[in-house]
Amino acid sequence: KTTSATRRIAILGSTGSIGESTLSVLDHADDLGEADFEIVALTANTNVEKLAEQARKYKPAFVAVADESKGEELRSALADTDIKCGAGAAAVEEAAEMETDWVMAAIVGAAGLRPTLKAAQRGADIALANKECLVCAGDVLTAAISKAGGALLPVDSEHNAIFQVFDFDQPERISRLILTASGGPFRSWTKEEMGTATPAQAVAHPNWSMGAKISVDSATMMNKGLELIEAAHIFPVSHEKIEILVHPQSVIHSMVEYVDGSVLAQLGTPDMRTPIATTLAWPTRTSSPSAKLDFAEVAKLTFEAPDLIRFPSLRLAREAISAGGIMPAALNAANEVAVASFLSGGIKFLDIAAISEQVLDRSVRLNGPATLSTLEEAMDADSQARRMAEECVAARAAA
Ligand code: NAD
Ligand code: MG
Repeated sequence: KTTSATRRIAILGSTGSIGESTLSVLDHADDLGEADFEIVALTANTNVEKLAEQARKYKPAFVAVADESKGEELRSALADTDIKCGAGAAAVEEAAEMETDWVMAAIVGAAGLRPTLKAAQRGADIALANKECLVCAGDVLTAAISKAGGALLPVDSEHNAIFQVFDFDQPERISRLILTASGGPFRSWTKEEMGTATPAQAVAHPNWSMGAKISVDSATMMNKGLELIEAAHIFPVSHEKIEILVHPQSVIHSMVEYVDGSVLAQLGTPDMRTPIATTLAWPTRTSSPSAKLDFAEVAKLTFEAPDLIRFPSLRLAREAISAGGIMPAALNAANEVAVASFLSGGIKFLDIAAISEQVLDRSVRLNGPATLSTLEEAMDADSQARRMAEECVAARAAA
């Protein structure tokens, strides 16, 4: 692995919520003279305007837009610069393959798997926000990271919290991981009310400002289900020892309980720039622009057990990880299709978990305990589950 005084950085998904927060942390560190970095590559899905604006400001060597049809637009927007432009999924992978030391994996969904894996195989440190790629092919990705010698630095606030208080030298002395959940916008809604929830209501998260997909996942609590699977891949702890606890204030970002009864937690304001700064500076620390906690203002921290009846996604995630093999990939793909359909008005809110459950059940019946040890197996499981979920969506539209 190469080390250079100047940190070479790539941001996959730079136009998204996490991508922009990452650039904000870098700007802040730069203003304070705390970081010496060079942005080498930036990527986006379709937002050429924002990508070109970022490119003009940060002057990366390469920018890529995943949407092939946007290639010309990107090239003409940057025609008067010497920034190389690419378009299509292969160009995003090319961005991941550029020589960099630290890669922010902030693409949403399983679409981020191939580029993240490419960066991992090169030995870059991976700041991982893209939880779906761990859910889809966790063993493949973590094996690639360890083989090439980079670090896996969790960006997801819960995993980042655990990472900061997890004693990797004695994981057997850890009795429990407690993943906190805000409960999302429908925490106190009845199931009946949830039945008529609109996309606008579902993306209005009480504490965090995030992309549309993860906001809907927070409303169904599938986000916490995906995070349970994510945690089981990042930390050497069995999923049975991972608990989910609703904590509406989102101040305690997660906790680790040791066998002697000690519970260690990481706290902070709900601002992703804190965990991002942690991964950027690890194993040291850097400043971040996020607000500091005012405990007197927070005044009260409360906790409640999650409701598995109103939020069946939590049960589905447990079932998927217990079944193992391709099942988490199937559940993730079904959820991605269902969430996209809900956001575009195709299905109702409660259909998201119902379709995910139908696909998971069908996948278990069809594939039995199919193991997953290669990228191809993960992509096949992902495609198969997407087809099944599309059928479920179509059946609802026809009904
Ligand atoms: P977002 O929708 O705001 O941004 C997603 C980014 O990925 C954009 O840059 C988009 O252009 C790019 N992208 C989307 N589809 C793509 C495709 N098919 N190919 C290539 N690029 C594509 O999402 P976000 O909120 O920034 O979340 C990104 C990831 O981080 C998700 O996996 C999410 O679960 C995770 N995460 C986000 C937060 C948060 O606070 N936003 C917190 C924890 C984890
Ligand atoms: Mg999270």
